[in-house]
Amino acid sequence: MATVTEPRRQTRKAFQTKLLINGQWRDSVSGKTFATINPATEEPIAEVAEGDATDIDLAVKAARRAFDTGPWRKTDARDRGRMMNRLADLIEQHIDELAELETLDNGKPIQESRNADLPLVIDCFRYYAGWADKIHGQTIPIRGNYFCYTRREPVGVAGQIIPWNFPMLMIAWKWGPALAAGCTVVLKPAEQTPLSALRLGELALEAGYPEGVINIVPGFGETAGAALVAHPGVDKLAFTGEGRTAQIIMRGAADSLKRITFELGGKSPNIVFADADLEAAVNGSLLGLYLNQGQCCCAGSRLFVQDTVHDRFVDQLAAKVKARKLGDPFDASTQQGPQVDQAQFDKIMSYIAKGRDQGAKCVTGGERFGNKGYFISPTIFTDVKDDMAIARDEIFGPVLSVIKFREIEEVIERANTTDYGLAAAVWTRDIGKAHAIASRVRAGTVWVNCYDVFDAAAPFGGFKRSGIGRELGEKALDNYTELKTVTIALD
Ligand code: ADP
Repeated sequence: MATVTEPRRQTRKAFQTKLLINGQWRDSVSGKTFATINPATEEPIAEVAEGDATDIDLAVKAARRAFDTGPWRKTDARDRGRMMNRLADLIEQHIDELAELETLDNGKPIQESRNADLPLVIDCFRYYAGWADKIHGQTIPIRGNYFCYTRREPVGVAGQIIPWNFPMLMIAWKWGPALAAGCTVVLKPAEQTPLSALRLGELALEAGYPEGVINIVPGFGETAGAALVAHPGVDKLAFTGEGRTAQIIMRGAADSLKRITFELGGKSPNIVFADADLEAAVNGSLLGLYLNQGQCCCAGSRLFVQDTVHDRFVDQLAAKVKARKLGDPFDASTQQGPQVDQAQFDKIMSYIAKGRDQGAKCVTGGERFGNKGYFISPTIFTDVKDDMAIARDEIFGPVLSVIKFREIEEVIERANTTDYGLAAAVWTRDIGKAHAIASRVRAGTVWVNCYDVFDAAAPFGGFKRSGIGRELGEKALDNYTELKTVTIALD
């Protein structure tokens, strides 16, 4: 266990840095560790055990045993639900400590960790706890003298690979439906943010999950991640991250024909019509792009504004963006923290340079903030053309591209001119326009007069290259169940 030196953290003095395999905390077989960095200070927080293919093999075998022969198999559905509610209760009891850990490792402002991420995590587990004893089949009137019914059985061992932008929330989205359905899991958290996953592992053991049901192996994508993808003992693989990584994973999962679900990137259009409540649209657009330092797969990074209100809208938005408070993420008034690491910082800065080079106008921001930590001033580009890199590529940072449009048919066509299809939003008081956008923009989620409204009950996922399958809601249970048809001759 590492000792925390961070002066602002008060609720807990030590945290877990080992791998969780078969209910035991252990070092990696190689003995290797890697440093996790505080993005606000660029200093190491702790050395974490670095899992690789050998540790993944042990974890998958533990998950396999727990699924095939362990007590989990015989645990009543209702008790699986109660266990998950216990986990949710424990998270709630430790909410301040967990929020601090997330902020320490990821850099997100404490008021977001505490008031957005953690409540959504708790809510997600409670939602899926309720599903555990409601996953049932049907009786089907087939031709002939037979009794035919379906059963929904857990798919088996689930490999889950998650990113660093919402570390705990991504765990809740993955563990919730998997554990409710009766699967066992091997989780590989992102190398940038392993700490909150390990603490959740401790709480899961306390909640009563039997050994091997939940395994956690921090490590790198090319080693631990790739080993999980290729392991023949894994039945189903769920991944959230970049499209390029998903292509590698799809190839890696092909040999064993794993079931896969992907939640990938986006370049979501956020469309503001002149008839909108402009103040609400300004606030919604601000949230839609700058939440979580712009590190959201559904960020509204292509802001289409109708020409007649464009200049007024940009002025109002720029005033708010300039007033955003950057700095120490542990300060309760901070609205924007650092980007997660040097690589993300460099990538975002290179897009800002491309924006300038290609002729977009930088209205505000566009530079590093301070001289320590990976902070970037919130940035707005106007005069953005559809073919510029900042209008096409996912930047995953606090960089907004404002694009002018004239009328609805044009904006629908331009909104759809992208390989992505994760989310979209429209701001208008005209119900006809709202429905036109909702039905014709090819995206998995459309928000009307709001942005980033998430609920554990509402499915989320992408059209086109933004994903395969859906997470959340009843739909996500399909990802973790196999349907079995049983036919019984009656005479
Ligand atoms: P990002 O660039 O935002 O970190 P990635 O898609 O690279 O997004 O990473 C998301 C998750 O995928 C992380 O947990 C990472 O370790 C993992 N990952 C990266 N490369 C691979 C790979 N080749 N195989 C399996 N997992 C990977």
